[in-house]
Amino acid sequence: MLIKILGSAAGGGLPQVNCTCCNCAAVRRGDPGIAARTQSSLAVSADGKVWTLLNASPDIRQQLAAMHEFAPDPDKGPRSSPVEAVVLTNGDLDHVAGLLSLREGIRFTLYASREVLAALDVNTVFDVLDRAVVHRSALTAGKSAKLCNGDRELGLEVESFTVPGKVALYLENAAAGPGLGTREGDTLGLRITDPRSGAAFFYIPGCATVDAALASRLRGASLVLFDGTLFTDDEMIALGLSSKTGRRMGHISMSGEEGSLAAFASLGVARKVYTHINNSNPALREGSPERRTAEAAGWEIAYDGMEIRL
Ligand SMILES: [Zn+2]
Ligand SMILES: [Zn+2]
Repeated sequence: MLIKILGSAAGGGLPQVNCTCCNCAAVRRGDPGIAARTQSSLAVSADGKVWTLLNASPDIRQQLAAMHEFAPDPDKGPRSSPVEAVVLTNGDLDHVAGLLSLREGIRFTLYASREVLAALDVNTVFDVLDRAVVHRSALTAGKSAKLCNGDRELGLEVESFTVPGKVALYLENAAAGPGLGTREGDTLGLRITDPRSGAAFFYIPGCATVDAALASRLRGASLVLFDGTLFTDDEMIALGLSSKTGRRMGHISMSGEEGSLAAFASLGVARKVYTHINNSNPALREGSPERRTAEAAGWEIAYDGMEIRL
């Protein structure tokens, strides 16, 4: 199984167009030790030829154009794409807006929770994805499904499960549930498996907290790509960038008693990679104390184009 990180930044990317934080400024200056990042998305393939995207970021056109794996095969006629499926973890704009760039008649299957599919269904802008060529398929949390494009199996299985999270910002007013409108299916974690080799990994780019159920699910995993949005819960407030804590945005922070560094310390996960990293996060800077803390705890910081073979 081959995994390609298309984008490793949280919403806004790095640099974010309107942001003057020290990370965004450093990237604009071309400082060493910090690289530009596009908004988070990942591609996975059983054979290196047919690909499934996990989330479709607003930067998808640039991401697919930049990597040779996603070039159309001229032997398949005037129009084709190696992207044959897209799986959404939630309805956040930085995870669904890229669907609009996949509208040129690309034939693929779109997988998401019933709740997220319903949100796309009522938003007519997504009707640009012609239902005759883009089949929409609901994931049931806790169940495994073979990834397919039409009748053709893509050689991978996806298991989705609900993780603590938050409904997408633009749906908050409509959310009827308690707290931040978190309902079953609003935020999913994914486990992708190659049934031939038995290789498997988790993709969890948005997660508010590691509860007991999630901890036991992840224990002993060979690879987890996890929500690395913020280093500290109030980091965006401290920098004057936002009035919201990470918790309010549905994102666990790396540090702190309830942070992901602490939560993963005893889980025995063989390879841990932070992705979906906000431009404000000091761990993006190589050699920073925060980066060293994460690395000392066994974490890697994802970068665009990062490749992992399982
Ligand atoms: Zn996001
Ligand atoms: Zn910034």
